[in-house]
Amino acid sequence: MPHLASLSPSALEAHLAAEGAVAPSRARALVGPLLRHAFGARFDGGTPTWDDVTLPRWARGAVLALDVAPTLRVVERALAADGTLRLLLAARDGALVEAVLIPGPSRTTLCVSSQVGCARGCRFCETGRLGLTRQLEAAEIVDQVRLARAEHARDAWRPPLTNVVFMGMGEPLDNLARVADAIALLSDPRAFGLAPARITVSTVGVADKIAPFVRATGARLALSLNAPDDARRRAIMPVADRCDLASLRRALAEHVPRSRRLLVAYVLFDGWNDAEADADLVAAFVEGLGARVNLIAANAGPDPSLRAPPERVVAAFHARLVSHGVTTLLRHAKGRDVWGACGQLAGAARLAGSPPEPQREPNARANPATCLPIVSS
Ligand code: SF4
Repeated sequence: MPHLASLSPSALEAHLAAEGAVAPSRARALVGPLLRHAFGARFDGGTPTWDDVTLPRWARGAVLALDVAPTLRVVERALAADGTLRLLLAARDGALVEAVLIPGPSRTTLCVSSQVGCARGCRFCETGRLGLTRQLEAAEIVDQVRLARAEHARDAWRPPLTNVVFMGMGEPLDNLARVADAIALLSDPRAFGLAPARITVSTVGVADKIAPFVRATGARLALSLNAPDDARRRAIMPVADRCDLASLRRALAEHVPRSRRLLVAYVLFDGWNDAEADADLVAAFVEGLGARVNLIAANAGPDPSLRAPPERVVAAFHARLVSHGVTTLLRHAKGRDVWGACGQLAGAARLAGSPPEPQREPNARANPATCLPIVSS
């Protein structure tokens, strides 16, 4: 029997109608109560029961057979000095992924993973060192939100959890069908009720999946750019071997509607992609795309040669982009002290002792910084 959280609302309706041998309209009437019960704010990390839900006779067998138990459990919590909370989560088969709760001044964002490991091998990313173990099921993506929301509810000082970003472990467009099913549930008002515009999916630039992504979800897209030209992009992001910047730009221009404002994330590496001439190239890339650029200085990652530039260099790059009329935000990383920032999610390697264990600050309380981080997807 399927897991309830792996069924999009329309798939649940079809499942109930088929199992109960009833018209879709009767099944549809039951979907709301089921979703509200299983995914409502009362979830505390345990297994929901259907005791409080009136189940019609035709639906009883099908509903009771659905798997509703959490597919993940929290095995480690690491609270950063800035209030960021990194969660290490174990799936039923022992696979480990990470999710990060990131408090801002007025809202909290949850960064979720879409795969166990990742096949894309970006040089600046701890997850990229792991390789791909397997895809996450839609239920395992949804359960990162269920569990993180329960964690969030225990700490009343964090602002409301309103945003979800697919910027954790994995390349979401390599697991698009399950990511789309999860987003359908996360954005359904009968389940999690997140506004689609508050769900952002980050990609390293899997160009042929951009159109299917736009068709399948109402979420926003973020491109992890990180280099101003093909040669340098190929040097740190193997995806660039298959798709050059011109093709990528064409796919974005053709398929991402302006109403879903594109986000372009650019991680700055010292002396490597941070010259003002590089900013000119980035400005040329985004021209006409209606994109917003988020800049972030690199965090410590697997390659020590890729490190953050001095602040004055970051500021000059920022100013140069702005001078081109590009809407640009300078983001400050959060959660670095617990290895929860951009490119630092390591999953299984965390327990194996590599990368080094973070410094814990168990008594840290909220000190929300003014910017959210970008966690490269
Ligand atoms: S940055 Fe994203 S796509 Fe690249 S290796 Fe890391 S998780 Fe994979």
